[in-house]
Amino acid sequence: MSCREMPRSSVPDFLGEAPRVFNDATTMQPRAPASVPVEARNGARVKVRDMRPEGVYRPNYSFLTPNMRSPQYVQMSMAAAITLGVMNGAMHRTACTRCLNLLLTYPEGCRANCAYCGLARHREAERNYADRNFIRVDWPAVPYEEVLDIVAAGGDGGRFHRMCISMITHPCSDEDTRVVLKKWVERLKHIPVSILSNPTTMTRQDVQELKDLGADIFTVALDACNREIFDRTRGRGVQSPHSWAKYWEILHAAADIFGPEHFGAHLIVGMGESDRDVLTQVQKIRDLGGHSHMFAFFPERGSLMDHLPAVPRPQWRRIQIARYLIDYRGHRLEKMRFDESGTLIDFGLPQDEIDAVIDAGVAFRTSGCPGKEARDISACDRPYGDSPPRDIASYPFKLNRSDIRKMRRQLDAGMADGCGCQSGELR
Ligand code: SF4
Repeated sequence: MSCREMPRSSVPDFLGEAPRVFNDATTMQPRAPASVPVEARNGARVKVRDMRPEGVYRPNYSFLTPNMRSPQYVQMSMAAAITLGVMNGAMHRTACTRCLNLLLTYPEGCRANCAYCGLARHREAERNYADRNFIRVDWPAVPYEEVLDIVAAGGDGGRFHRMCISMITHPCSDEDTRVVLKKWVERLKHIPVSILSNPTTMTRQDVQELKDLGADIFTVALDACNREIFDRTRGRGVQSPHSWAKYWEILHAAADIFGPEHFGAHLIVGMGESDRDVLTQVQKIRDLGGHSHMFAFFPERGSLMDHLPAVPRPQWRRIQIARYLIDYRGHRLEKMRFDESGTLIDFGLPQDEIDAVIDAGVAFRTSGCPGKEARDISACDRPYGDSPPRDIASYPFKLNRSDIRKMRRQLDAGMADGCGCQSGELR
């Protein structure tokens, strides 16, 4: 998130390679999680040492990690910490984030084991929960009352358009999310709250309670774009408790309870699915009244997929455009054409309409819950959460003419590289 990138590691990102059409399922196999020694399980190291936290904790692998627990403590993205002045730092081409992303925290951490995620349980042996990287950055831990005080005193300079509570898979997260939400709404009602839910531990009643307590938008991180990839990356394939059916059950509950434009789902592109798989989910979510929040797959350091290539830019760019057309231009999947492998070869619109969308640049910006600017511009801009600044996947700011030229080059690379169409034919 910061222009101070994550520490260098040997993890390849493959961004410099010749363009591929898409990340195929055969390539995108997570490695198996190793077993965790008993003395490292369930946050035992942190709980046995039981260091008292004092103020802000910045992840530091050389210090003992304090025993911090929500709702007293929350973690926040590095971009949010810089925006709030909790941490010093600068970000490439942007001064702030528009969304305060908060993450519940416990010594036991998330009990799930999603293959692409830096917070996953298999990392217990290697790194305590509060020290783990997540979407490419560290997440400092801050006393929640301090967060409330700083924002209430205007410490964000009016820059936050939204706050988001990220639940994790933990037995206390349902109750603690309610506490964090209630306290926020009591003091900071003018900044709407999104919930990034954990469907595995939730019932329809839990969704209703969050709505009644004042949550504005409810999101479900489906992440995987088909059932097979879901099972492989966050279900039985990696000894993780999630199920596709349960996630869709809670997504349907959110559609009923929160209503159109007030729910959404996260999807990660490039984990072995086809373009048709991604856009089928996007259309389903739009037909229910929600929006898709897209993430480019990036090999998160320390995850079970950190040896795998980032999503090829041509695949990502054509999906960004197609998703934007479905979500904000009323276009439909049925009008698009795919080749036999499910790769998108025709948007189903005249070229001048596609050109106008490319030139506007909004389709290439980070997607997520909206802020005050426009309904198609996300408050949640997650600076550099799915790419390094040297090859931005989701733009956290308005694109300039040079950026747009780059988008065209990346789209053209896919078109010329065997996606089944000649240059100029992808419409
Ligand atoms: S449930 Fe969420 S936080 Fe936990 S491992 Fe999976 S993706 Fe990461």
